[in-house]
Amino acid sequence: MTVDNTTFTLNKLQMYDECPQKYKLCYIDKVHVIEPISKTKTGNNLHNLINFYLKKADISKLLQALTKNEKILWHNFKNSDVCNYNCIASEYTFNVKIDSYWLTGRIDALFEYGGHYIIADWKTGENFSPEGVKFQTSFYLFCMYEILMAKGLIKKASDLSLYYIELATDNTVRITFDEDLYIQYRTLILSLINKILENKTYFCNKTDNCKLCKYYRACPYY
Ligand code: SF4
Repeated sequence: MTVDNTTFTLNKLQMYDECPQKYKLCYIDKVHVIEPISKTKTGNNLHNLINFYLKKADISKLLQALTKNEKILWHNFKNSDVCNYNCIASEYTFNVKIDSYWLTGRIDALFEYGGHYIIADWKTGENFSPEGVKFQTSFYLFCMYEILMAKGLIKKASDLSLYYIELATDNTVRITFDEDLYIQYRTLILSLINKILENKTYFCNKTDNCKLCKYYRACPYY
């Protein structure tokens, strides 16, 4: 059983938060699950297209190859507020220190508008719920706050927010941030790290969502 005890990705922490047994199946037992290509293809295509566009690459051939559904998602992206803001980074990978550990992750894009910084996350599916990405929200806001403060680009937590941009429905969920949330998110992240490092039993979080879990067939609780 080999586990890296110093570096924690969003996926690792998020999976433990959802279900410690799921974390064990993925990171300790290393159960490999192949997901249907169709499930991720549209999301990947749009993420790539937006990334190239924000990096000012030539996207003319990619636009010609879009499916009917992808054209709608692209249209909604071009209509979104962030397209009027300054793009600071796209597909930005980061490493942030928290106590003696490292957090590593990647955001879809970072924008600036009037001195306010916005983390953008593209959602291409149809059933997006902010409740379902609560840990991702904590992780992104905590990490980007640390980075932007260290660079002197923001002075307070409320200078940063996170937008979940739903490309299928042309809706944007805006998440604000403040100093109290910073402390709350920091505590949450450290408590998950400590649980991962201490845990030896990996209990299960059996819920109605288990049927949607990709480790369902390998789970000893079923
Ligand atoms: S099926 Fe349920 S209990 Fe089993 S790993 Fe998945 S989420 Fe956890």
